[in-house]
Amino acid sequence: MDIHLFESKILHLPSPIQELNHSLFKEANVRVYVKRDDLIHPIISGNKWRKLREYIRLAKEFPQLPIVSFGGAYSNHLYALAYVGHEFKIPTIGIIRGKELDKSSNPYLEQMFNWGMELHFISRQDYREKISPINKDSILIPEGGYSEIGINGLENLALELANFNPSYIITAVGTGTTALGINKFMHIPVIGILTLNNLAEIKQHEAELNSSGTTWITDYIMGKYAKETPILTQFCQSFEQQHHIKIEPIYTGKLFYGLYDMIARGKFPKGSTILAIHTGGIKLPN
Ligand SMILES: *Cc1c(COP(=O)(O)O)cnc(C)c1O
Repeated sequence: MDIHLFESKILHLPSPIQELNHSLFKEANVRVYVKRDDLIHPIISGNKWRKLREYIRLAKEFPQLPIVSFGGAYSNHLYALAYVGHEFKIPTIGIIRGKELDKSSNPYLEQMFNWGMELHFISRQDYREKISPINKDSILIPEGGYSEIGINGLENLALELANFNPSYIITAVGTGTTALGINKFMHIPVIGILTLNNLAEIKQHEAELNSSGTTWITDYIMGKYAKETPILTQFCQSFEQQHHIKIEPIYTGKLFYGLYDMIARGKFPKGSTILAIHTGGIKLPN
C-alpha cells in the first residue's frame, strides 16, 4: 500500500484538536486544548504512526530488508510496528526482553505473531547489552523509535498545527522522540513530562541533536515505569468521566495529572493557551 493512501483511507489524519473545560483552568485563566492523536488509529495509536512513518518510507525503498526493533512484552511501539508491517507487507522482526516468554505469553504478543512479526525472546542481560540475535541486513529501529528518522516523522504533526499557536505544547516522554521532534519543527516552548527515570538519557539525546528549549519535568514519574498508583488510576477514571477521553496511567495519565497540578500551582502565566498531545496508548488486542 502507498503511504498517502494508508493515511487518507485508514488513519484519522489530521487528528482533531479539542478544548477541555474545567473550573481549575478558569480560575488560573488558562485555556487547555488536546491534540487527539489517540484517534489516529486504534492500533497504531498516537505518536507511534508519526515515529514509524519515515521508516516505512525507507522500507519501501529497500523492499528486501526487514525492519527490526526492540521492546518489552507490552511495547506499544512493537505492537504498532507489527501491525504496519502487516498492512504494508514489510517483514518485521521484534526482539523482546524476557527469555522466559513466548508468543503465547500475552494477547499482544500473540497478535503480533499472527500479523507475521518474527519474534525473538532474549535475556534481560542481552537486552541491556543490546546483543541482537539478528545478523542479516535490516532496517534497525532503536528501542521505542528514538532516532533522527523517528524524530523527522514529527514534522507532520507540526504541519497539522500550522494554524494553531498555543503558548506551550506539553507531552508525555518515553524516549523523548516526540518532544524533541515537536521542538525541532515548531517554534513553541515544549514541556515534556517524564514517565520513567531516564532524564540522563533524554539529556544525552537532546545534546546529540543540538536541541534546546524543552523543559523536562520529573515531578510526575511516581516511582517506577508502569507502576500503577491509586492516585493515578483514580485520576484517569475521573478525567475520563469529565472529558469523555480515555487516558492510561503509564503515559497520558501522568501527562494530564502533571498538567492539572502545574496549572493548580500557577506554573503557567495568566492568558496562556496550552496544547497537550494525547499520544495514545490505549490498545486492545484484536
Ligand atoms: C510510546 C509512547 C510515548 C513515548 O513517546 P516518546 O516519543 O518515546 O517519548 C508516550 N505516550 C504514549 C501513549 C506512548 O505509547
